[in-house]
Amino acid sequence: MKKIQMVDLKGQYEKIQHEIDTAVLDVVRSTQYINGPEVKNFQQDLEAYLGVKHVVPCANGTDALQVAMMALNLKPGDEVITTSFTFVATAEVISLLGLTPVLVDVLPDTFNIDPEAIKKAITPKTKAIVPVHLFGQCAHMESIMNIAEEHKLYIIEDNAQAIGADYYFEDGRTKKAGSIGHIGCTSFFPSKNLGCYGDGGAIFTDNDELAKKMRIVVNHGMEVRYYHDSVGVNSRLDSIQAAILRIKLQYLDRYTKKRQQAAAYYDNAFEDNPGLTIPVKSAFSDHVFHQYTLKTEGVDRFTLQEHLMSKDIPAMVYYPVALHMQKAYLDPRYKKGDFPVTEDLCNRVISLPMHTELDEQQLEYITYTVNDFFS
Ligand SMILES: *Cc1c(COP(=O)(O)O)cnc(C)c1O
Repeated sequence: MKKIQMVDLKGQYEKIQHEIDTAVLDVVRSTQYINGPEVKNFQQDLEAYLGVKHVVPCANGTDALQVAMMALNLKPGDEVITTSFTFVATAEVISLLGLTPVLVDVLPDTFNIDPEAIKKAITPKTKAIVPVHLFGQCAHMESIMNIAEEHKLYIIEDNAQAIGADYYFEDGRTKKAGSIGHIGCTSFFPSKNLGCYGDGGAIFTDNDELAKKMRIVVNHGMEVRYYHDSVGVNSRLDSIQAAILRIKLQYLDRYTKKRQQAAAYYDNAFEDNPGLTIPVKSAFSDHVFHQYTLKTEGVDRFTLQEHLMSKDIPAMVYYPVALHMQKAYLDPRYKKGDFPVTEDLCNRVISLPMHTELDEQQLEYITYTVNDFFS
């Protein structure tokens, strides 16, 4: 059996090696390493795939979030509502910009931000909401957009984990995750569903003015060369990464299917295990399984993790500590117990290997070993 990994980037690369190697070498030989034609080509391919008017490529997903907030002219003291159960980057950029992160709890089934909790957290200082489509499934965007409209707030979707997912509106319309709010952000970190071979990110919007501002922000606040009208940053997607992403974008839907097939195998094996709750799939969103995350019941999941490791099966805990309990984000406004669902999840979740290269033999071994732990 092939060695089991959380993410098998090598196996995935080997299947498209010829295409990738050719594309990378073409860029190397062109010497157009920064803002070469592949960056624009990828931008256009991604705009078409997502059905958005503008994609602004940038250096990573964290920058994407920061640039979005800078383009919205958010000012110190402005409040930005986000979830207490997410990767730190979401809150990090809010704090870095001197904005005030306002955390709210998540729903126990999908682990996504609770729209009712958002409503309660809104104050006259609230300017934006950042829903995170955690583990590959969209937050309830329809109610979040309604809240935004009512209170004149911006929505920035953190779509680092759900690229490729379709969102289903009640009236039958569908939209791609990340294309629903005013701005969508994503990451092309290698292990993400659409990953490059280094760092990369992108911002999406249908709004011409916001797109123009974001292009200026990522380019040192510069519209006309060497004239700087605002303070910006330097955040670019390399031409080599863009060339790789152009190829991998063509495979994204196939990769998503592979992830969903692995998840279905897991679901089937675990659904009758009383010690595990399989991921809940909501009616309004695809699940593209950035992670396959189980809720454990009545066991210590670190003991489960050790058991799996001893059988050469990696497993990870995303995320062991809620944002409001992280040292860097301790805040007198929050204390232990304020976000009971998040805190409970932090104590109970465990994520199994999830990638595009899992084969049946590996899945059988993983599921057998997990269930064996409970017997
Ligand atoms: C990965 C990730 C980011 C940050 O992306 P980077 O490219 O690593 O900067 C932001 N938010 C979430 C939810 C992520 O999973």
